[in-house]
Formats: sequence, structure tokens, C-alpha cells
Amino acid sequence: MASPTSQRTNKFTTLRLRFLMIMLLCHTPHESKLFSANQNHQKIFSPPPPPQQQQQDSNPHAAFDTLDLDGHFSFQNTAHASRDFGNRFFFRPAAVLHPKSVSDIASTVKHVYEMGPLSGLTVAARGHGHSLQGQSQADGGIVVNMESLTRRPSQGHLRGGGGGRYVDVSGGELWIDVLKETLKQGLAPKSWTDYLHLTVGGTLSNGGISGQAFRHGPQINNVQQLEVVTGKGEVVTCSEKQNAELFFSVLGGLGQFGIITRARISLEAAPDMVRWIRVLYSDFSKFSTDQEHLISLDESFDYIEGFVIINRTGLLNNWRSSFHPKDPVQASQFVSDGKTLYCLEVAKYYNSHHDDAETVDMQIQGLLSKLHFITSTLFVSEVSYLGFLDRVHVAEMKLREQGLWEVPHPWLCLFIPGSKMDQFASQVFGSIVTDSSNGPILIYALNQSKWNNNIKRTSLVTPREDVIYHVSFLASAVPSSTGKDGLDYILARNQRILDFSLGAGIGLKQYLPHYTTQEDWKGHFGSKWEVFLKRKLTYDPLAVLAPGHRIFKRQYQIRKQSITEGLLKNT
Ligand code: FAD
Repeated sequence: MASPTSQRTNKFTTLRLRFLMIMLLCHTPHESKLFSANQNHQKIFSPPPPPQQQQQDSNPHAAFDTLDLDGHFSFQNTAHASRDFGNRFFFRPAAVLHPKSVSDIASTVKHVYEMGPLSGLTVAARGHGHSLQGQSQADGGIVVNMESLTRRPSQGHLRGGGGGRYVDVSGGELWIDVLKETLKQGLAPKSWTDYLHLTVGGTLSNGGISGQAFRHGPQINNVQQLEVVTGKGEVVTCSEKQNAELFFSVLGGLGQFGIITRARISLEAAPDMVRWIRVLYSDFSKFSTDQEHLISLDESFDYIEGFVIINRTGLLNNWRSSFHPKDPVQASQFVSDGKTLYCLEVAKYYNSHHDDAETVDMQIQGLLSKLHFITSTLFVSEVSYLGFLDRVHVAEMKLREQGLWEVPHPWLCLFIPGSKMDQFASQVFGSIVTDSSNGPILIYALNQSKWNNNIKRTSLVTPREDVIYHVSFLASAVPSSTGKDGLDYILARNQRILDFSLGAGIGLKQYLPHYTTQEDWKGHFGSKWEVFLKRKLTYDPLAVLAPGHRIFKRQYQIRKQSITEGLLKNT
């Protein structure tokens, strides 16, 4: 009779073989990945076939039979997991896991890890799939649908008093749901993204920035604790004090070190109303001086962003449905046509039950009086706090109605050192980008010296200077167009921005980074690369996790590279 150990080994070997066979079957590239190399040498793949045309796997369930799951695997309805918001990269997974518990995720990752270095199987956490270049996809691997793990924060996970208030949320929770639940207690997270239909795990893997970040730092600066499933399938609770290395690795870590299953987010007292203000500049240096002045103040607006307007007509008429000119007569004399303009967008929060309206007005007047905008272009709107934070969703609904949401999104998001911003603006807004009709161009200053110093220990990469600018070109492409609104044109324009910046020594860093070569990834991480690689070796040594970024291939490559770089002995 076989010993319990050898029985276990046999069972495991059989399981491995069955799994490998199934993966080989599932890996058959029946969806055509048509390479259409464009000018930027990026690969564009054809969209996946509709579910009914997809190959039926022979008996893929067998490999997973021994996994005792609360949720389930799906092998046939995987088309959804092979797309993302970017609509340019399509990698079909072999299976989608719909977890109902953390242990579902842990046992799946552990299972893949235990298949060893020869297995090419990977696992990608998928939040809301709002990545741009396939980052939440797993070619022939397993996609974990994090949204099926959601656990409403109202179910007893909202805690604390005084400064220590927090909420425990699932990594698959949408920020809009976190907001709605915490508002029931008069509380809210401090730092946001502009759009809230993104998951907690998805934005914490990147950073999470918006107009509150100048004061509170990115979302990753407002997390007290995480629960993470590492690339070995271990479930680890981590914080600044407990398993700190893992905690800081995961924050901004592009999903490379673990899957966030729970996050403890700091909260503050929530306002209920927002005074939302837009003013225009035609002079970039006045605009940037004012932004930098506002972010330097202790008592400032609660939200500070901005955007660039190039070659747009009828701009102010578009605003009038939601913004009211402070002086309608003066505003009607302002003509925007053709000019490059810079819009400063700020907001002051208040509580309509406790705060005196006159005091709020006086604070706003005091702040505006020090600015140098074109006086006729002061526009004001009064909205609820929830309406303000969820503002992009309104735009989404409109675009969806017109069939303009699920189009290719060749976005380029950057951090520019403050000292180089004038040079960048003069070339990029002055000659490379000739109009802003393809989508908004965001621009706002951030003051890193105000952030919690721990940010430096996270995996987020930003330029070294205290003041940096976030600049995002959020273009939508018209699918079949070969003109200025077409994908190739916009990608070529993005490349020109990058080429100019490289040549001029701007020293930018990409946010939501996308690179196609390992050298470029090393360049991106710069002095953080060695730490990044060591962390990968510690927490995901077989490179099972987050293959969609294409930073690491499976174990062999990481090992080879570590040897080359002297981090491992060549044994
Ligand atoms: P996904 O796209 O599903 O995943 C993103 C990455 O995170 C993948 O690598 C994935 O594997 C990994 N991941 C997902 N879940 C987990 C998890 N639980 N644990 C570990 N890794 C995980 N970003 C900002 O910072 N500020 C903004 O204002 C902003 N606005 C946006 C507006 C729109 C309309 C869109 C589409 C995106 C915006 N983003 C913004 C970018 C957004 O933060 C990223 O696209 C983010 O990745 C999307 O989150 P998601 O939940 O859809 O994640």
C-alpha cells in the first residue's frame, strides 16, 4: 500500500498532468491574433469571436475537480475577460475563476504555483477591466473575476472613531459602491480617481490619482492594511508594521506581487455639497503658477485639476448646461475659437447643515482673488458631493448611448517634473498636439512633499522633484478612421510626445505604464528596478501573476535575468 505521502505525490502528479493536458488543449490559438503592425510597432489583435463561436474545451473541468471552491470556474464564457477598456489588445484566457472566497483565489494560485516552472500557466486578477493594453488579461491562463468577491462594506466592516476611521473592502469592490456605503455613515475615503467605476484592487495596483492627490497623496497613500494572495498562493495580511515589504510592494505594484483581496481604506468626514469652479487662461505660465500656488497652500481648494483646450469652438456654450458664468455679460464677450486655453478646475467641499454659506463664499473669493485667470471666464456650479465624484459616469452614459464608449482608447498618461513643465507644454501643446477634439487632456500639479513619506517605499514610480504634473491624453479613436481621429494617427502623436520628451531630457514617467521591452521597463523603474525584481523573486518567483503587463515571463526568464544582474547565483 502506498504511504500517504506517496499517495499525495501521485495524486498531485496525475493532477498536474491532467492540468497540463487541458492547458495545452485550451491554449490552442483558435482565435486569430492578426498582427497589424502600426507605425509604433505595437501589436493590435483582432477582437475575440463571439462566445458561441469559441472552441468548446474537451473536458476542462477535470483539472479543477480537486479544488474545493466556494465559487466556480467558467471555461466557455471567457470572451469578456479577453477585452478591456483600451479595446486594442485581446488575449483569451483558458478559464475565468469567479471566486466567492479568498481561499478560492489562494488555492487556484497555489495550484498553478505547484505546477512548477515548466508550466506556462499564469493568473491575472481582473477588476473592472478598465486597463488599456491588456494588463488584466492572461493569454491562455486564468483570469480571476475579482468583482465576484465583493463584500459590501456595510456588513460590519466600517470601523473606528477620531482620526483612525477606516473601511475594510474587498479588492473587487467598485469605488462608487465604497462611496455610497461609507456616505451612509457620513464618511468617505479621502483620495479618489476621476471615475469611480473602477475596483479598489485595480486602482491600488496603479496608484489612484485625482484632484485630491495634491493634499492626500494617491489612493495608495491612504491604505492602512491589505490582505494579499501572493504568487505562491499564500494569504498574507500586511501593513506598514506587519509584513511591510509585501505591503509596499503591492501598492502601485501593477499586480506583480499579489492579488489584493481586502483593503483597509482611511476615511474622513464627508461633505454633502461641492462648489465646482472653472476659469480659463491663455497663458500657460500664469496657469501653472496659479496651480502651483494653490497646491502649496495649507488652506486651499479640496480638489485641483485642469485641462488643455486646443482648437475648440463653442466651448463656453457647451459648459452652460451645467456651469453658470459669474458675469454672464462679460462671459458672452469671450470667444474661445482657435485659441489654446488652459482651464483650471477647482472645487470647495462643504457641509450644507454645518457650514455657513457666506463663510464658504468668502474662502472661495479669497483664493480666487490671488489668481490670474481671464476674469470674464469664471464659471461656477453647485452639485452634491456624490454627483461631483461620480461626474465621469454621467459622461460615460452619454457616450454609451451614442455607441462611443467601447471604441479604442489610445491613452497616454504621464508624470512630468515641474521644472520641465514649461518646456513640455510649449512643444507639446504648441505644436505636437494640434487639437483636443479626440478627448480631454488633463493637466494638474501635485506636491509630493505633502504626501506621506511611505509613498517612496511603494512600487509607484514618479519623477524625483517635489512638484510634478500629471498630464493625460485621454483620446478615443474612431475605429475605421484613417484620419486625425483614427487609431494610427493618435498612436503616432503619442509617440511623438514620448520621442520629443526623451530627446529633450524631460525625465517623464508614465502613469499606467505600458512598455514592450524589458529594457524599457528597467528604464521606467530606474533605481527602483533592482528592488522590484527582488520583490518579484520573493513574492511571485514563478511569475504566475499579472502577465498582461509583459514585464516578466514565467520563472525561467526572471531567474536568468536575476543571474545576469547578480541578484542570484548561477546554480
Ligand atoms: P483592471 O483593469 O481590471 O486591472 C488593472 C491591473 O490591476 C491589472 O494588472 C490587474 O491584473 C491588476 N489588478 C486588478 N485587480 C487586482 C487586485 N485585486 N489585486 C492585484 N492586482 C489587481 N486612474 C487614476 O489613477 N485616476 C483616474 O482619474 C482615472 N480615471 C480613469 C477613467 C476611466 C474612464 C478609466 C477607464 C480609467 C481611469 N483610470 C484612472 C485608470 C484606472 O485606475 C486603471 O485603468 C485601473 O487599472 C482600472 O481599474 P480596474 O478595476 O478596471 O482594473
